[in-house]
Amino acid sequence: MECQTSTIFKWTKHTGWLLLFMLLGSCNTTCSGAMSGDLKIQSNEPSVKDALPSNPNGLTPLAACIDGNRAMGHAKKLVSFAPRHAGTDGLKKTREYIASTLLELGMHPVRHPFTAYTPHPDMKTVDMENISVSFVGKTDKRVLLTGHFDGKIIDDGTFYGANDGGSSTGLLLEMARCLHVHPPEQSVTVVFFDGEEALVKWTDSDSLYGSKNYVSQLMERGEHKQIASLVNVDMIGDKRLRYVHDTNSTPWVFNALRETAVELGHGDYFSGPRGAIGDDHIPFLQVDIPAAVLIDLSFGPGYESNAYWHTENDDMSRICGASMEATGEIVLSALPRLMAAP
Ligand SMILES: [Zn+2]
Repeated sequence: MECQTSTIFKWTKHTGWLLLFMLLGSCNTTCSGAMSGDLKIQSNEPSVKDALPSNPNGLTPLAACIDGNRAMGHAKKLVSFAPRHAGTDGLKKTREYIASTLLELGMHPVRHPFTAYTPHPDMKTVDMENISVSFVGKTDKRVLLTGHFDGKIIDDGTFYGANDGGSSTGLLLEMARCLHVHPPEQSVTVVFFDGEEALVKWTDSDSLYGSKNYVSQLMERGEHKQIASLVNVDMIGDKRLRYVHDTNSTPWVFNALRETAVELGHGDYFSGPRGAIGDDHIPFLQVDIPAAVLIDLSFGPGYESNAYWHTENDDMSRICGASMEATGEIVLSALPRLMAAP
């Protein structure tokens, strides 16, 4: 496998034109086989994986628990609620689905309703709600695993958001299930953010409503110092997954994920371009909480194309369980490293 390096200009999510250094070539792993778009297993039903007697990849039981088919089932459910942007019934159904799924699996979700003040001319004041579920380990400090579930308002067609919002929610629900079944040594909170997307146009004020509200609540309660680090996942279902090397992310947190991926044989997923990503990790970085984002912004028909992003083409045919499963394995395997800078 060979990689070539070149320099291009590319539009990155919410940040504008940036100079990026792209790694070109077949450096990433692609979905293949039965996992690819295969939805034989419903999200809460027993999976073939539950019956596996051993783990051939050397994963911990916690990491080996992650089942891409279950994550796909959740993403498919969210897609069925489309559109699910601010102010829609689809978004209410999405919140209910997340909370009820966690409850049915025996967990205790906490709902964090808040009011968002937006520039949208018809909505302006919008009810939003983050949802979290916590797992108490042996550590005083905790790791936050986060992502968003809301959809985007688009001009043409329906926004299904299978990858954007669907894949992150599917993986977070699946990671929560595994953390419940295999209690971690480290204390962990999984947080589902509302209102990541801009309602009109991405600006500092019209974006990241849920994560900004969650940080403000942490600060009010004086709990921000209890956060060891945060990993945000977004658009991690792409069949040709490769995470952006986000220059906004805290280097030691991003490196912890990359080093873990290399050990697991998933290093190729880190062959994406360099860029500065605006996403739900930013409000945490702004209050000095170490944080990183795993996001794929090469979501299109060509190797460098991001053409499916924020369009009707972001549908179930574009994502696969293998990408979500690998991301979950990386994140959960990295938990010991995510407790402190090396
Ligand atoms: Zn988006």
